[in-house]
Amino acid sequence: MNLILFGPPGAGKGTQAHLIKQRHELALIATGDILREEIKKKSSLGLEVEQVMAEGRFPSDEIILKIFEECLENVKEQGVILDGLPRTLNQAQKIDQIFKRVDRTVDIVIQISVDEDELIKRLSSRIVCKQCGTPYMEDSSFHPKGVCYECSGRDFIRRPDDEPEAIKTRLKVYNDQTKPLVEYYLNQGLLKVVDGMKPVAEVNAQIEALLGATQVLTRKSGCLYSAQDI
Ligand SMILES: [Zn+2]
Repeated sequence: MNLILFGPPGAGKGTQAHLIKQRHELALIATGDILREEIKKKSSLGLEVEQVMAEGRFPSDEIILKIFEECLENVKEQGVILDGLPRTLNQAQKIDQIFKRVDRTVDIVIQISVDEDELIKRLSSRIVCKQCGTPYMEDSSFHPKGVCYECSGRDFIRRPDDEPEAIKTRLKVYNDQTKPLVEYYLNQGLLKVVDGMKPVAEVNAQIEALLGATQVLTRKSGCLYSAQDI
């Protein structure tokens, strides 16, 4: 199963992606995380995109697709979750072409829908682990009590693109860019929407219900066999 997770910054995509990844043993291709890692390493790619991302803008399609293809090569047979891409119609079309070459299809596109006021509230209270980038909310039940669950790191920072001005730019750029994408997947009958205003567990339950239905369909058409079938 190959799925695309879709949603504005702050919709909880990253959290849901990790939950789905663990449950379904899928490979996660999260371009934002990869780019932030490159920035941290100060690689040539990192240096190239650092300023762009700090301003709340997104790196070029060329960069995103290059990362995507490299990740996909490493994944081999495993199904994938795309988090943070496609971000433009061009990226979506190129992903379809690349998938076709390696005999894959996009099976489902899940959009996590959240009101804009709520997004701004969430993003401005988000902190991330300095070491591994895992996001946490300040003053909420997800507060890590000073220690990162993933890597035991103790330093937390605000991402430069979570500063108020950058947040507004990100949401505007996101909305402008994704409108045609929503239509693109809607026309193919692939787009499903979940209510991202609900708590994490409920959003996840909505997603699992959709994935369950998709797996039944793809199994029927002989495209996918999960371990339980064998
Ligand atoms: Zn960490």
